[in-house]
Amino acid sequence: MKGNFLLITLIIIIAVIAFIVKIIVSVVSFLLLPIGIIILIAVLSVLSYSIYSHIYFASSKFLNLKSDIQKYIQNCNDLNSHINELKNSFVDISSYDYGKGELNDNSKFKFKRKEWQNSIKNHQIYNCSAAVCKSASNQPIKYLCKYFNIEMNESTLTSFETVLNDFAAAEQGKELLRNERDSILNNISNSIPKLIMYFKRDAVIQKLGFEAYDFSDLYFPVYTFQYVSPGGNSSAKCDIKLNIGNLEKLIFYLNDLIKFRKSVQGQRALMTSTLREKIKSRDNFCCKKCSLSIREEKNLLLEIDHIIPLSKGGITSEDNLQTLCWRCNRTKGATIENT
Ligand SMILES: [Zn+2]
Repeated sequence: MKGNFLLITLIIIIAVIAFIVKIIVSVVSFLLLPIGIIILIAVLSVLSYSIYSHIYFASSKFLNLKSDIQKYIQNCNDLNSHINELKNSFVDISSYDYGKGELNDNSKFKFKRKEWQNSIKNHQIYNCSAAVCKSASNQPIKYLCKYFNIEMNESTLTSFETVLNDFAAAEQGKELLRNERDSILNNISNSIPKLIMYFKRDAVIQKLGFEAYDFSDLYFPVYTFQYVSPGGNSSAKCDIKLNIGNLEKLIFYLNDLIKFRKSVQGQRALMTSTLREKIKSRDNFCCKKCSLSIREEKNLLLEIDHIIPLSKGGITSEDNLQTLCWRCNRTKGATIENT
């Protein structure tokens, strides 16, 4: 009796499973065709779209458009290389050559030691105790000067002011370059098929001849205080990024300390954002050399120039500063380097 019951149960279970499998199979075979068709349509549309865009980019219509606006694109690319030069204005502050010494790690457990050895060669990383690391995060500028041997003199202050002036121009330049590129694209957007502009904007930018612009702020130098425990198990890090804000704090800090030692400051001013804007506004947002202003060229990058260069003994003072457009400033820089 019991055996019969088990047999019947088994048969029922098998029947139910067979029924479910049959339903699944019929549903799948029913859907197989539509799914296949959808995939086929998708593949075909992607394929035909890439053929279409390929033909479009090679068409005389696109090439004519490209040559019509070549001048503006070249201007953007020139501004981009100028910005890249500005970004390189920073030279490692502790790059002074103290000679070379060999470091041998004789510890028994070389756990994470390799990383430690790499970082010790990097002038922008300072290995320290956990306490120093914590204090550095509370008073970054003070600790930066103290532990990275930034000398408290006018020449250091001048170099940081130059870096700040260049970085500030680079940041503003990035913004203006982005606006200029967008406005060029906006002006021609009606001449480019909507489908191409919508799905292939990056390709349009590249095919028109715009270089790849780097709008990131990765160029800001970073100084790091790092603590790694002897075993390498616990660690802490404090990064100090020399961005516009920190550079400005740094020159204020240096200025205060130098003022303390040197009481006669003369007419010396500090290259702050307020001063830069003041000079631009005084010069009516016009280039003092070619008279071009932001009224004629909306996205014109205006820079602050030392009339007598710092390298020739000029100082940062209102009467030694003038507004120049980036093109004139670039030409001036090249002329001074060649003399
Ligand atoms: Zn100019």
